[in-house]
Amino acid sequence: MKTFLLILLSVLPLVAIPILIAKVREKCKKQEGNSYDQIGIKQHDEIPKIRQHNEANIKESDLPLLLEVLGQQFMDDCYLTSISCPSKQYSCQCPSCGMKNEDLVWVEYRSPNWTWSYLCGREGYMVFCPTCKKCVNNILTLMN
Ligand SMILES: [Zn+2]
Repeated sequence: MKTFLLILLSVLPLVAIPILIAKVREKCKKQEGNSYDQIGIKQHDEIPKIRQHNEANIKESDLPLLLEVLGQQFMDDCYLTSISCPSKQYSCQCPSCGMKNEDLVWVEYRSPNWTWSYLCGREGYMVFCPTCKKCVNNILTLMN
């Protein structure tokens, strides 16, 4: 039961962030003139930069797995960087197959700039199991 709650709590931001992104987008579209600029979001300037950032920082071999688990929308919106297991402090294991630390896929993420201006920015590590094709941990390191 405790493990289930822990997994639920760690996966919750993964579900909540895309919903939040969708909600704010919807709200922005309803604004007069259909412009993100009115609330300080420069969508047209920002998105191409994020895409370039993603392409440069995600390992080619990790891309199919991340696309499958996170979806294109999340990949486009967040800053993602492939990393290796940062330290023993963040030791992690897949609850289904038992795969550990360096064999898992580690990604450092940072939510888009507008989330930080709305005081809901998140930064941390997501850990994926390449065998079970799922996110096995979400380590939050910074939030505002
Ligand atoms: Zn696994």
